[in-house]
Amino acid sequence: MLKEISIRTSSHAALEDITDQLNRVIAESGVRSGICHLFVPHTTAGITINEDADPSVARDILRELDKLIPWRDGYEHGEGNAAAHIKASLLGASATILIDNGRLKLGTWQGVYLAEFDGPRQRRVWVKVIPDREAG
Ligand code: ZN
Repeated sequence: MLKEISIRTSSHAALEDITDQLNRVIAESGVRSGICHLFVPHTTAGITINEDADPSVARDILRELDKLIPWRDGYEHGEGNAAAHIKASLLGASATILIDNGRLKLGTWQGVYLAEFDGPRQRRVWVKVIPDREAG
């Protein structure tokens, strides 16, 4: 089954924690064991998995990405948001995560983030929940 989750991002650049929304999608699917594939259908947003216990980690990631890829740096792209495109490509548009006991099987400190680089705006994530072939 394919599900779509919708996220209103909070600022120009932000890591929005979507772990709870993904776990709700999995719970609604009834799948206890399998894989969850995520895809972001945008060119200036991406997906990343990192610490969600201490919010300073997300802020550090965003700040260091800004240093690596400044908003203005003589880019050719005429729309003015080349930095957002580059950051989105660095993080990637998809992730595949195991499902165990009806939830994402993440490390203790891990969360799944939609990475916004040209917001705030409405974003979508397509979610495919794939059960194990055998029962269980
Ligand atoms: Zn653009």
